[in-house]
Order: sequence, then C-alpha cells, then structure tokens
Amino acid sequence: MIVEDDSAIREELVLLLENEGYQVFMVTNFATITDQAIREHPDLILLDIGLLGQDGFALCAALRKAVSAPVIFVTSRDSGLDEMRALSLGGDDYITKPYSVPVLMARIRAVLRRSIDTSEHLDTMEAAGVRLSLTKGTLHRREGLWSLPGMRCRLWSV
Ligand code: CA
Repeated sequence: MIVEDDSAIREELVLLLENEGYQVFMVTNFATITDQAIREHPDLILLDIGLLGQDGFALCAALRKAVSAPVIFVTSRDSGLDEMRALSLGGDDYITKPYSVPVLMARIRAVLRRSIDTSEHLDTMEAAGVRLSLTKGTLHRREGLWSLPGMRCRLWSV
C-alpha cells in the first residue's frame, strides 16, 4: 500500500513495485487512509511523512493501531531526529528521497521477510488436520479453505 501525495513519485513507485511482481494499492483519497488500510489489509505500507495537511508521524501511529502491516517511511526529510521519531513511532524502516531503487527494493524485501517470518510462526495453529491462521483469518481443512474475515488478529514483533 502506497501513501504518497506526490502523484509523480506515487506512480513511479507503483510501476517499480509492479515490475517486481508486487500487487500495489495506491491511496488517492487522503481523508480515509486508515479505513482504506483496514479494508485492503496490506502486507506492507510505504508512507510519505510530508503529506499535504497531515502529520505522517501521527498517521503512522494511527495505522499501527489499525493494522499489523509493517511501515516504511519514504520521505524527503533527512534529519536524524526525524528518523528516530519515525522508528520510535512504529516505523519499521526509513528511506529518504531521492532514493536508490535497488536499495528501496532491498529494504522492502527485508521488511516483508521479517514480518512474514514473525507472523507465520506466531499466528498459525494446527491440530487434527485443521490449520488456523489468525492474521490471514483463514481456516484450512482437507475440504478447502474458509475465510474468516471477522477473525483477523493483529500481531506484533517482539
Ligand atoms: Ca509528500
């Protein structure tokens, strides 16, 4: 999920990520970002700190409360204080514009790998041929897969 109000950067990010095989959801209505995150259930959020009329730091805190997806800040600010604030508010990584595309992609892969490792280990329960995934909200049996959207849980890395 991309939250970036500069349409040129946003569209560039979409192209880059789609070329890498990611399915991308791009926010264009910035009034309901948290609701869209809850609906889309993204694996990762790329979040611009300098959003028009909004504080990216406050938004990150709200997103962390709403969904379990890791957050990478993509921003043109580059002070150490901003970086510290971003990470202490629950950002998982921080990259400044203009970014190097290979570095951005490597960071995305690293954050996704960490978050998937953690959630796969913590969220899946298996017994008597039934596998329950709390974060995916799915129940697997020999007969097939059930989706249990109301059951999605949030997990945090420890
Ligand atoms: Ca911006």
